[in-house]
Amino acid sequence: MVFSFAQQLMAEPLHFSLHKISSSSTGPTLLVIGGIQGDEPGGFTAASMLVTNYKVKHGNLWVVPNLNFKSIIKRSRGIHGDMNRKFNVLSEKDPEYAEVQKIKKIMLNDNIDIVLNLHDGSGFYKKKYINKMHNPNRWGQSIIIDQDKLNTSKYGDLSGIASNVQQYINKRLSNKSKYFYVKNTETKKGDVEMEKSLTYFSIKNDRPAFAVEASKSFLTHERTFYHLLAVEGFMNELGIQYQRDFDLTRNNVAQQIGNNLKISLYDNRINLDVEKARRYLNYVPLKKHSSLQYKKNNPLIAVIGKNKTLRVRYGNRYVTSLNPQYFDYDYSLDKINIQADGKNQTVDIGGKITVEKSFRVLADDSYRVNIIGYARRGVTNENKILVKRGQIKSRFSIDKEESLFRVELYKGKKFSGMVLVNFIDRNKNQPVSLKQGNSKVAFTSNL
Ligand SMILES: [Zn+2]
Repeated sequence: MVFSFAQQLMAEPLHFSLHKISSSSTGPTLLVIGGIQGDEPGGFTAASMLVTNYKVKHGNLWVVPNLNFKSIIKRSRGIHGDMNRKFNVLSEKDPEYAEVQKIKKIMLNDNIDIVLNLHDGSGFYKKKYINKMHNPNRWGQSIIIDQDKLNTSKYGDLSGIASNVQQYINKRLSNKSKYFYVKNTETKKGDVEMEKSLTYFSIKNDRPAFAVEASKSFLTHERTFYHLLAVEGFMNELGIQYQRDFDLTRNNVAQQIGNNLKISLYDNRINLDVEKARRYLNYVPLKKHSSLQYKKNNPLIAVIGKNKTLRVRYGNRYVTSLNPQYFDYDYSLDKINIQADGKNQTVDIGGKITVEKSFRVLADDSYRVNIIGYARRGVTNENKILVKRGQIKSRFSIDKEESLFRVELYKGKKFSGMVLVNFIDRNKNQPVSLKQGNSKVAFTSNL
């Protein structure tokens, strides 16, 4: 996804993204929407994990993980009010008018069989009043339908489908206090608030729709776990076959959240692993007189200009800030040679190399090499110098774990690109994300 700034560090227009996770075969299509309210991270985190961790083998999964992206980034339920009350009547002057029109159009696309809206709700929905947190007015741990049936649709047995999914979820839960139930809001009978909701807009247009509510009584990773169970239950109902790259447990979901966050600037001249980044990264060589162009490997990442820095966010969370230094760019270099622990390797510009003890950049003499954090008296070009981890100041690492360092290449006054050096200690167990990799990142593309 490429955002353009008219000038450096202007506010980024944050729009939602649509990701089509499709098999080669046709077949049923499920649309999953997350983040209609910016303060419900279980829903939007689950939706984003569908994009980053799932593949579809039969049928199609369409995902909008970040519907109210601005509010997600601002950690607000809705910076322009509750977006889930904007689907009945909405003034064209509403700042979210265009976004609401856009998602309505996607929902009514002929391919879509079922629309799912993921929420985090308060307490625990129960049919009968038990106590303050467990009663009919609560929303958590429920599948919401607006009415029992839609006569015109193939998947019109809303209550039947919801109760199948409910059973699918509960069968996989050992603790009864966390069970899901079906809540019918009977919107048509005069629920004025629900009439304004996304799902009811869908129902009015004969498109089956459900909301899933994970309880806000749980931490984000646990809510995300329930949402993923629910989405899988719906895929099961539709006959959509999928694969995910982890076993669905609460702990594994917790590990996946915020893991593997990368941004890529200016056609891969700079690739940064930011999931463990320090609070600030200084003197990041950005392109002079240019709009900021970046790609990201997770739909919840946003890079936002603020007070001469670029703030990187992941959903509700702050990741890091890039304090820029501006350069003209040189595009003459695609790869360089680096000797790592005595072995010569070729590394792409924007790539990463793993080093145990020492490395030596072997670039053409027309380039100047700057190893950030390394300094030797009288040396301005660090090309062809043997460098050990101990000779680089730890505080210049990208990551808090002090293992990831920047090697920058310049031609004259122009910046030619960056390579990351990842120091590993073979005696320690390395976390997966720090394993060997000069790998290409699969960056997501958007609408
Ligand atoms: Zn909600």
